[in-house]
Amino acid sequence: MTLDNIKEEINKAETIVILTHESPDGDAIGSSLAFYIALKQMGKKVDVIIPEYSRTFNFLPGANEIKKESDITEYDVALVLDCSDTKRLSTWVNYFDDAKVKISIDHHGSNKMFADYNFVNPAAPANAQILITVLEFLEIDITKEIGTCLLTGIITDTGGFKYSGVTQETFEFTAGLLSKGVNVSEVYKKVLQIKTRTNFELTKLVIDRMEFLEDNKITFTYITEDDLNSVSAEIGDHEGLVEIGRDIEGVEVSIFLRQVEDGYKASLRSNEYVNVSDVCMIFGGGGHIRAAGCVIPGSLEHAKEKIINQVKMYL
Ligand code: 5GP
Ligand code: MN
Repeated sequence: MTLDNIKEEINKAETIVILTHESPDGDAIGSSLAFYIALKQMGKKVDVIIPEYSRTFNFLPGANEIKKESDITEYDVALVLDCSDTKRLSTWVNYFDDAKVKISIDHHGSNKMFADYNFVNPAAPANAQILITVLEFLEIDITKEIGTCLLTGIITDTGGFKYSGVTQETFEFTAGLLSKGVNVSEVYKKVLQIKTRTNFELTKLVIDRMEFLEDNKITFTYITEDDLNSVSAEIGDHEGLVEIGRDIEGVEVSIFLRQVEDGYKASLRSNEYVNVSDVCMIFGGGGHIRAAGCVIPGSLEHAKEKIINQVKMYL
C-alpha cells in the first residue's frame, strides 16, 4: 500500500525537503507547515522551501522557518504537497529532481502521478484533510500547532466549510481541534475574512471591469501588471477576486485573468455543471472541477478570446 511505502521512506530518511506549488494558497502553505512541524517532531532534518507566499500566512506556526532556497542539493526524500504537476514547482523543481525518493500527496483530480509514491485523493476537499490520515498513520501527535496549519488548509480550500466537497470528517476534525486549543475563529478571520487594503483596491478595479457574457452565464474580468504596480500589490493580493463573479446569481463560470511574465494566468470557478479543470487542461493547466487555472501566453485580447471560447463550449 502506498501509505506503507511512504511511512517506510520517511522513517528511513535523514534529510527531507517539503515543496508545494507556486502562488501557494492556504492549503499549500498549511499542508507544508503541518508536515514540517510533524517531521521535526520525528527528529528529521527537514526544510520547507517556498520562495514566495502571501503575508496572510505569516502568523502560522513555523512560517518564520520557511526557506527560499537550500544548500542541500540532494535530499533523501522530496515531499510534494497539494501540487498536481512538477511544472508548478517552477524554478525550485531541482530539489524535487535531485532527491533520492519522491513522494506526492495531493487532492487534485488532474494530478499527473509524477512521483515514486503518489497518495492522491481527489475526493478530499483539501490536501490538509488527507494529511490527517497520513499523519495519524505516521503516528504523529496532532498538536495545537499542527492543527492550526491543517485547519488553515481546510478553511481556505473549502471556502470556510461551504463548498460541496466538505465531509463529516471535515467537521469532526475541526471540532476535535477545539479541545487542542486551536483558535478556530481566529484562524478563520485571518485567512478568509480580513482582506489587505491592496486586495480591496484590486476588487474595485475588477468589479468595474466585469463583463457579463452568454446570457449572464459567464463573467469576465482581469488585472494587468500595471494595475498590480499601481496599487503596489504583493504576492497573494489577487486571491479571491475570481470568486466575485462566481457568487452572482445565474453565473455558471467566472473567469479572471491576471497578467504574468509570459502572458495571462487564468483562474476559473464554476457553480453547477462546467468542469473548469477540463477547460484548463486544454491549456496545459488543471485543478479541480469547480476551481482551476492555467497560463495562456500572449496579449490580453488573445487570452480573453481563447478562454471565453473554450468556456462557451462547455456551457
Ligand atoms: P487558483 O485559481 O486559485 O489559482 O487555482 C484554483 C485551483 O487550480 C487550485 O487548486 C490550483 O492548484 C489549480 N491551478 C491553478 N493554476 C494551475 C495551473 O496552471 N496548472 C495546474 N495544473 N493547476 C492549477
Ligand atoms: Mn488544495
